Amino acid sequence: MRFALTTAAVLLSTVATADEVNVYSYREPELIQPLTDAFTAETGIAVNVAFLKKGMVERLLAEGRRSPADVILTVDISRLTEAVDAGVTQPVTSEILNANIPAEYRDPDNQWFGVTTRARLVYASKNRVADGEVTTYEDLADPKWKGRICTRSGMHAYTLALTAAVVEHLGEDAAKSWLEGVKSNLARKPQGNDRAQVKAIWAGECDISIGNNYYFGKMLQDDEQTEWANSVNVVFPTFENGGTHVNVSGVAMTKSAPNKENALKLMEFLASPTAQAIYAEANFEYPVDPNTPASDLVQSWGEFIADDVNLATLGALRPTALKLMEEVDFDG
Ligand code: FE
Repeated sequence: MRFALTTAAVLLSTVATADEVNVYSYREPELIQPLTDAFTAETGIAVNVAFLKKGMVERLLAEGRRSPADVILTVDISRLTEAVDAGVTQPVTSEILNANIPAEYRDPDNQWFGVTTRARLVYASKNRVADGEVTTYEDLADPKWKGRICTRSGMHAYTLALTAAVVEHLGEDAAKSWLEGVKSNLARKPQGNDRAQVKAIWAGECDISIGNNYYFGKMLQDDEQTEWANSVNVVFPTFENGGTHVNVSGVAMTKSAPNKENALKLMEFLASPTAQAIYAEANFEYPVDPNTPASDLVQSWGEFIADDVNLATLGALRPTALKLMEEVDFDG
């Protein structure tokens, strides 16, 4: 059984000591444990992690100044933006963070910092889609794909972030047309997670799907899902005037951090070559540090140029993306 702390089992001291740092994490224990172990080995600072499934911001708001949390870890720009907008984070000034993390993957106001990226790409049937047949996000709205695309809900954070990127590149009106085009190309109503779309390709229900890159690795690790993965090619689409859409997982310091110095040390550690290499091997994501290579397996899927739009821009465009999803009734 997977080890996970429930909220009730979390033993975080509200008394700050010199040698600890407290983390609220949406990221899984299997991923975080090697990082915190390495941090403690390097610094002697103990890391207490509360692994949460939901309600992080609500919890921080309820705890207020008494919160034991120093640092939050989460995936997705929408969750980072949510924390900043709720006022539960504080800006961090760090030469190390600024040096190791490209500007597009950290907040211009220093409230959050990306530590990994994940590309949102196209999975294409090996049998039914030729090499080079799909190369751009714009192309997904082309009628040639009618009845051939599978995707998860338009309301999911991953879909909304991609749509925000479409708004940024094409403008709101064209983004709406794009969504309408993609919707009219769907083989079925949006449903299931990213892996379920690849399964649908394997089962012959559709020919291409949209999904995050690390699920390809996860499927290859899973006995049942390996054949789903083996039925598709990985395609890194780009915007016609940009690169491949990526999202981040990131870190922020809480506004009330009782162990500020240690929190900063942990944040800087997560952007260090040591931690970036651990991230690279752990979850099929991309390190943010350009000097740390992705894992051999991830590199074998091909090279790509990530879009250089700042993730904060996409966070700010989320309400627009949501509005467009509702206007076109994407899931309906
Ligand atoms: Fe995911």
